[in-house]
Amino acid sequence: MAEMPASLHVSSHPLVAHKLAILRDKQTEPKKFRELVRELTWLLGYEAMADLTLQPMRIETPLEPMDAQRLEPKVGLIPILRAGLGMVDAMLELLPTAEVWHIGLYRDERTLKPVEYYNKLPDAATVQVCLILDPMLATGGSSAATVDILKQWGAARVKQVSLIAAPEGVRTLSRAHPDVDVHVGALDSHLNERGYIVPGLGDAGDRQFGTFAGPASEPGRGPDDVTAEVVRRLQRDLRGG
Ligand code: URA
Repeated sequence: MAEMPASLHVSSHPLVAHKLAILRDKQTEPKKFRELVRELTWLLGYEAMADLTLQPMRIETPLEPMDAQRLEPKVGLIPILRAGLGMVDAMLELLPTAEVWHIGLYRDERTLKPVEYYNKLPDAATVQVCLILDPMLATGGSSAATVDILKQWGAARVKQVSLIAAPEGVRTLSRAHPDVDVHVGALDSHLNERGYIVPGLGDAGDRQFGTFAGPASEPGRGPDDVTAEVVRRLQRDLRGG
């Protein structure tokens, strides 16, 4: 496998490996799948926030006053629609004061560039740290475009949390934004011609929300030309170093 950037952090926690195995299994039903997405988000979110800065605060326990610490930065959660929505509640359980901001992007079929269709960010950044949530870091195009928007907004620090990543997506994101830490549960082998991560888990949105549209949308079916070309280009880039 091509060398991966230092910004990539693959969890080595046994619970993550165990839960990912059940998540990936094609027999796992949407209800169980959603529970696992939530539990994995706790574990990976915990790791992703390990370097958040603290500020001192004075508190009083029932016994005596003491110097304690609280989180310094305000944190924003940015789920990539739609599969990232399943990670939001788990992150809010870890960090109830986090703000949730939605940015909608789709890929233009001619230019192959992400196009923004929904963005209600206020003029100036209201948070310092942004966590982009997407279960699958596949081509990396949406993530890189989302980071562009967040940096322009004024976010001081951006991180990505994903359950599974493809090397092609990690490379795309780290080339565009080497300062963005990427926390994942596993780094898989490659993208197939339809842009699905292999071995992966299939379509993370369909598996969470129970929206199985039939054989035409299955990850193993023939490619559409645009996606296949994007994947070939990403794989050429990856081999090129
Ligand atoms: N999105 C998914 O849901 N699955 C993949 O494998 C790639 C992108």
